[in-house]
Amino acid sequence: MREWIAELQTRVTDCIYREGEPLSGYTTFRIGGKAALLAEPAHEEALCALIAFARAERVPCLLIGNGSNLLIPDEGFDGLVILPARLNRIDARQDTLTAQCGAMLGTLTQKALECGLGGLASLTGIPGTVGGAVYMNAGAFGSQISDTVSEVRALCGGEIRTIPVSEARFGYRRSIFASEGMTVLSAVFSLGKDSEESIRRRMGEVMEMRRQKQPLEYPSAGSFFKRPEGHFAGALIEQAGLKGERVGNAAVSEKHAGFLINLGGATCADVLALMRLVQKRVFDMSGVMLEPEVKIIGRENVVF
Ligand SMILES: Cc1cc2nc3c(=O)[nH]c(=O)nc-3n(C[C@H](O)[C@H](O)[C@H](O)COP(=O)(O)OP(=O)(O)OC[C@H]3O[C@@H](n4cnc5c(N)ncnc54)[C@H](O)[C@@H]3O)c2cc1C
Repeated sequence: MREWIAELQTRVTDCIYREGEPLSGYTTFRIGGKAALLAEPAHEEALCALIAFARAERVPCLLIGNGSNLLIPDEGFDGLVILPARLNRIDARQDTLTAQCGAMLGTLTQKALECGLGGLASLTGIPGTVGGAVYMNAGAFGSQISDTVSEVRALCGGEIRTIPVSEARFGYRRSIFASEGMTVLSAVFSLGKDSEESIRRRMGEVMEMRRQKQPLEYPSAGSFFKRPEGHFAGALIEQAGLKGERVGNAAVSEKHAGFLINLGGATCADVLALMRLVQKRVFDMSGVMLEPEVKIIGRENVVF
């Protein structure tokens, strides 16, 4: 056994630990090999202690929210995977909601509905956590989470800082938390009063559009590619004749060509081969190089 695994479990006690845990169950793609160690901290202090340990001991460390924008290698992750699922408190105060990073967006939108607070309904159906959504600046149907965030508490370089939205460098699927490798601990959402009826209607409309347009019946990580300037990734992929294209058990969705889906038992290698095939064919047809929106572990800077 790697020495750090025993050492960490002695030093940071308020966690549930699982050694050699398969990660496929923690991603919506249902893909990914084993983690050397998976830790579920009981509270924020334990989360910060895990990250401090990983930094000090130079253990590769990966934070998984709901794993809905992740592609994890078949070989797994030889390091510490942190799952902040138990940090899921949401507090309501006047027109604001404060949510911990592990709270699901679905719970947040439901809480906003109960409190008669508008502004979050367009995010209905995004299967992420508050931490993952703030990190990615998730958005849909013309809105992004940054439209409602007023400040974020984040761990940066061992120090907890409160970052106002003006300093969060939010852009299309961009944030300071991603570019500077910060851990989102919690976020404050400033919302406006709205009627329960109108929020409920908007949430229903958004969910219906998702059901009609997206292959929700298959495991995926949502739209696989970023929207290229002046184009839509799905439309380019469709024009390149790639709907239904397969590599192994990974396929371009027939329903929405922007989604790469797992038909059952797809590997990370299948998805990566399909991604490259799509990129090449779209580039040859249009000169546009599609960039993945999905975080590909081992390829992008998600390991700190
Ligand atoms: C069916 C489907 C539909 C989707 N629709 C949309 C959509 O409409 N719009 C959209 O934007 N996305 C969409 N997505 C993608 C995904 O749901 C979002 O990007 C979501 O915000 C990711 O959140 P997560 O908690 O699952 O993050 P994860 O996938 O777990 O992680 C994503 C990245 O965030 C990092 N991260 C997670 N938590 C934290 C934290 N607390 N602090 C710092 N870093 C952290 C991870 O390390 C990783 O780099 C969809 C996905 C699916 C499967």
